[in-house]
Amino acid sequence: MDTNPSIGCIVTECQYHSASEDFCTLDKIMVGRTTQYSSNSKETDCESFIPKRDNYS
Ligand code: SF4
Repeated sequence: MDTNPSIGCIVTECQYHSASEDFCTLDKIMVGRTTQYSSNSKETDCESFIPKRDNYS
């Protein structure tokens, strides 16, 4: 998959992370809340995250 330069990401544990650069490879992602009302960045997260399969092997 191609790197999407519009979505920076350092979560290398995700199967959509670009292996070579700190970017996502998806065309778009969904960002959600981790609490009922988010008041800072720690209370948001990427809901498109899927762990790499090799994390379980
Ligand atoms: S899906 Fe989300 S967590 Fe995974 S690489 Fe893309 S931005 Fe990062």
